[in-house]
Amino acid sequence: MVLRSSSRARFGRPLAARPRPVAAAPVDEALSTIIPEPVSFSELALSVAMQNTVAELGYTMATPIQAGSLPFAMAGRDVIGQAQTGSGKTAAFGIPIIERLDPRDGPVQALVLCPTRELAVQVHDELTRLGKRHELRSVAIYGGDSIGRQMEELRQGAHIVVATPGRLGDHIQRRSLTLANVRVCVLDEADRMLDMGFAPDVERILRQCPPQRQTLLFSATMPEWVRRLALRHMHDPETVEISTRPEIPSEVRQLYVQTTWADKTDALAQILDQPDVVMALIFVETKRTADVLQAQLGGRGYQVGLLHGDLTQRERDRAMQQFRASHIKYLIATNVAARGLDIDDISHVINYDVPLTPDEYLHRVGRTGRAGRAGVAVTLITPSEILKLRDVEKHARTHIEPATLDEDFPALVVSAEA
Ligand code: ADP
Ligand code: MG
Repeated sequence: MVLRSSSRARFGRPLAARPRPVAAAPVDEALSTIIPEPVSFSELALSVAMQNTVAELGYTMATPIQAGSLPFAMAGRDVIGQAQTGSGKTAAFGIPIIERLDPRDGPVQALVLCPTRELAVQVHDELTRLGKRHELRSVAIYGGDSIGRQMEELRQGAHIVVATPGRLGDHIQRRSLTLANVRVCVLDEADRMLDMGFAPDVERILRQCPPQRQTLLFSATMPEWVRRLALRHMHDPETVEISTRPEIPSEVRQLYVQTTWADKTDALAQILDQPDVVMALIFVETKRTADVLQAQLGGRGYQVGLLHGDLTQRERDRAMQQFRASHIKYLIATNVAARGLDIDDISHVINYDVPLTPDEYLHRVGRTGRAGRAGVAVTLITPSEILKLRDVEKHARTHIEPATLDEDFPALVVSAEA
């Protein structure tokens, strides 16, 4: 597991302590990559009641997303938390909510929005378990269930409401609840909520909560549109990202080719011309390099798609669609734009720029060799970059072989026919 956080101090040793080189244009992403040390709940400044409750639930160590976000959430800060499914995000917001609310302060102090009925029920159950010693009542409201019964439950008083956005809207309209007293608002599984078309509902609901409330957003992935919506409705949020390291399958050949700045585009073109290139994803560090490279390749007659953070959603969707449908064979992408890119047929990943961290390298290379297929990952380096590459290789615990364009390409290992 790798933790990315803007708070460097808390979690052990920085993995890439080397300062980032100053780039001509800003890199898409300038976060530190840190490996979290395990943190026990007893180190997290929880009440004795909560310590006992988590111990009873069998939670001894806080998961990385919990360890990373709890201190900020407990201090009343807005938090954007990203970690894979099953990583304990519910308690990451559930514990601070329960610790900070006061049962005497009346109904609907916390609102948790979830994308589906099943998730709303799960979150409500977990909050009920975590709130066992805190005299707080949670109520789940979701579509497909009797609205009358839910109104009755709300009348009995709910400090915490866990809701799907659609049904919550119905209740607000019927005035069975008001959001005027909300101190904490949580957007849980934000990516799915927005994927399901709830964005307008979510924004409307957020606007009805008092502006000085705390907002917590948790999600398994963090597409740009989730981040943008979040930033419109959050105050100076702290970002805590936990990503798992992809394993590179043995079917992927990892090569590097030495070239020079002047010859880099030639070298790239020579690789793109190989008969084994079915789909190639070309990674660059900056948006500016992406634009320049697309123009250079375009000038040589290559049709190349482009994916980076300055393009509109529509432009990115179009590039993705063309690539996915094989209308274009080559796609240039920055690290951030390529997140969540889920295509099984990428035969080649080409690092036009050397990745700056091992994590970045692994994530890029992990785009090929999917679903048991063979793949090639080629990193282009200039002579002065060999140490940088060796460093990435060592920390990523992988092996990258030297290769020359004339002898080692085409490089795809095609399993011999029986
Ligand atoms: P996510 O929302 O990230 O998908 P959940 O919050 O649903 O994950 O948690 C997944 C499971 O892990 C749940 O069964 C939960 O009870 C359990 N869990 C949460 N935190 C811990 C912990 N610190 N130690 C052990 N188990 C935990
Ligand atoms: Mg969850």
